[in-house]
Formats: sequence, C-alpha cells, structure tokens
Amino acid sequence: MVTMDEIVSLCKRRGFIFQSSEIYGGLNSCWDYGPLGVEMKNNIKRLWWKANVQLRDDVVGLDSSILMNPKVWEASGHLQNFADPMADCKVCKKRWRTDQLSENKCPECGGELTEPRMFNLMFKTFMGPVEDESAVVYLRPETAQGIFVNFLNVQQTMRKKLPFGIAQIGKSFRNEVTPGNFIFRTREFEQMEIEYFVKPGTDEYWHKHWIEQRINWYYKLGIRKENIRIREHGKDELAHYAKACVDIEYLFPMGWSELEGIANRTDFDLSRHQEYSGQNLTYFDDETKQRYIPYVIEPSAGVDRSFLAFLVDAYENQKLDKNDSRIVLHLHPAIAPVKAGIFPLLKKEKLVKKAKEIYNTLKYKWIVQYDESGSIGRRYRRQDEIGTPFGITVDYQTLEDNTVTIRDRDTMEQIRVHIEEIIPYLEEKIEV
Ligand code: ATP
Repeated sequence: MVTMDEIVSLCKRRGFIFQSSEIYGGLNSCWDYGPLGVEMKNNIKRLWWKANVQLRDDVVGLDSSILMNPKVWEASGHLQNFADPMADCKVCKKRWRTDQLSENKCPECGGELTEPRMFNLMFKTFMGPVEDESAVVYLRPETAQGIFVNFLNVQQTMRKKLPFGIAQIGKSFRNEVTPGNFIFRTREFEQMEIEYFVKPGTDEYWHKHWIEQRINWYYKLGIRKENIRIREHGKDELAHYAKACVDIEYLFPMGWSELEGIANRTDFDLSRHQEYSGQNLTYFDDETKQRYIPYVIEPSAGVDRSFLAFLVDAYENQKLDKNDSRIVLHLHPAIAPVKAGIFPLLKKEKLVKKAKEIYNTLKYKWIVQYDESGSIGRRYRRQDEIGTPFGITVDYQTLEDNTVTIRDRDTMEQIRVHIEEIIPYLEEKIEV
C-alpha cells in the first residue's frame, strides 16, 4: 500500500498540495491546494453537489456565512460541549488528546502526563475594533448550524414539504489538539453536509437510506470496496446531539479512519434554536394537520478527507517490465484534474497546428493540457502521474484522414478515432 510520504511527495512534486506559507517555514497543519489540487477538489465538490442537489428533487443548496451570531453556538451546545480532553507530557512537553490514547502515558517518550483538562475546539476572534467579551465571535466548527438557522427561510421560500434536505459545502475550523496525517486532520478544512429533515418516526428509515446513498457515491467514483467499511458508534461515543451515528471509514495509510459521519440528530438542533431564539421553528404537516419539529439525518463528509481517500485509492507504483515502471493515478475520469493531454507526435508545424486546434476546442469543455516537449513516451508518463485518463496524439495519419489516437491511462492501449468523435468518446467516459 502507498505510504503517506509517497502521497505528500507526489502532491508537492506535481502541484496538488503545498505547505501553507512554505517560504516562512509553513504553518502547522495548514495546506494550500495547487493548480491540480484545486481542479480535483472542485471536481469532488461538484460531483457531490450533482449527486445530492442537482439530481434530487428533495434537496436544495445553501451557502451560509462562516461567522454567525454567538448565540448559535450556545444553542447548539458547542460552547459547552465541543471540547476534547487534553494533557501534556511532563517530560517532552508534547500535547495529546487523552481520549485517543490507549494508555495514560506519553506515546512518544513514555513520560507521565498532566491531569487532562477540557479544551474547546472553537476558534475565537473579535468582530469590530473593540476586543472585549461582547465582540467575541467564532469561526464555525461545522457548516450544519448555518443550515439549521435557515430552516424556515429555505422551507418557506422553496415551498418544501417533508422530507427534504438542505445541502452546503464550505470551510469549517476546529482548533484540533493533535492535527496531522497530512490533510486528514487540519484546523481549517472543508465539509460537505446535508441536513435532511424528516417526520419523527421515519428517521431510522432515512438514516439507512442516506448511509446507502453515501457509500454508493464513493463506489461509483471508483473507490475500491475493500477499502471502505461502516462502523456504528457505541452509545458511549455518540455526540451530545445524536441518537445514532454511523461512520464511513476508509483504509488510509495510517489505518482505518473516519471519512464521513452519518448521524441521526433527532430534533435536538431545531428544538434548541427554537428555545434560544424564541422563534417558532415547527413545521405544519398538511396531511396530519399537526405541527412538530422535524427530525434530522445528517450525512457529513470532509472534502479534504475525500480528496485524500481518492488519491490513496488511485495511487499505483506499477512495474511494467524488468527495467521499467511508472507511477499512475487510476482516478475516475470525473475526478481527474486534467481530462486529456493533447500531443503532436513530433514538433512539426502541421502536427502542432492540428494538435492545438484540438486543444482549443476541448478546453471549452474540460481542463486539458497541450504538451509538445520530450518524447511521446515521457509525455504519456507525466500525464499518468497526475491521473489524466486520456492521451490524444496527432500523427501523420491525422493529416490524411482526420483520425487521432486516444491512449487509455490504465491499459495503455490506443484506439484510433475520428476527430469529430473525440468529444462524444470522452463525454461518455467522464460524465457520471
Ligand atoms: P474526528 O473524530 O476524526 O475528529 P469528527 O467525528 O469530529 O471527526 P464530524 O464532526 O463528524 O467529525 O465531522 C464530519 C466530517 O468532517 C468528518 O467525517 C471529516 O470528514 C470532516 N472533518 C472533521 N474534522 C476534520 C478535521 N479536523 N480535518 C479535516 N476534516 C475534518
């Protein structure tokens, strides 16, 4: 299996992910997505949006602000409960989350730990010029609360009936005690969340529905089944708001870890916001003529963790024959940052002109790259390493009959197609 070091190295070498503020020595656990990283990340977000908003009649989107009225966090329980137990090693001074340790001593040097104390994970800052208690605001630790406080706005303006969902993608911030494992656990990250509102009593049915939907999304985008599993939370590890929670776990290089959580949040959030805001957040059920607070099922995925899982799953250091090997990313074409490389076989004027024509047509549809430097074999390998699914080559036959070769990244086999057929051919493989 690929190591995290190999992934980090590929990401840096090929422009997927750089350390944040690298020229100043970086900033712990902060990362920047480079030119290929941002394309791949956008693809993941778009594919999630397409599956969960565009193709569903019962889910609509939202983009709420990161800063919110601090009362939101009182009501949600985050001010009181969103904390991890933390302790310091008396010998090496390293800091640890004690709920993640199997023994009560320092995993690094075996030293004795201080008494654990609770540490709130929310980032605090001040709104406006005066830095006093009344100006304190928080960076949201989840996108979910922006959805809950807009429940009525969305339900009424969109005239939605239960069951329906609100989806949102955006940044969240947690002052994690022990960030690490590259982009797996960072203090600034992106989430893709749905709050799906249902009639109480139907919540268990919808919980199952969403677990299935979400696993199938990963499968459809090529994640290998043996690398995904489901883990149900024990009663003792459930978050303060949840009746049940299931994690989708992925076999990352450091072991099985959470990729996405799917929780049954009951009516906890809306009830608390009703209580703290004094607003009536009940829903009027036309069929039963009753008013009630809906239950909520929440599939909550990390963009960065999905990104890492797709990369790890796709990575292969492939032996081709005795003296030859290649690094190849078997990314699903929909996720691959670059969809096709376009190459003139040789740097000859007529071939270059034709290849550029093709490039200039394809770029209206997808991110594609034109490359004329080095041997054709080298150019193919460069694209293999960034997961480009198709290599389109213009050769002398192209000038005679308007056909090109299309090379498949995974099989390395080539077929000849007419220039007019390139777009439908690619479309069929890329679109999901
Ligand atoms: P963990 O137990 O790993 O800290 P969590 O259970 O606290 O995660 P949730 O609150 O369920 O996480 O958040 C939903 C999703 O958001 C997670 O499944 C994960 O994909 C993502 N996520 C949460 N915290 C982080 C983080 N610090 N860095 C990157 N992604 C995160």
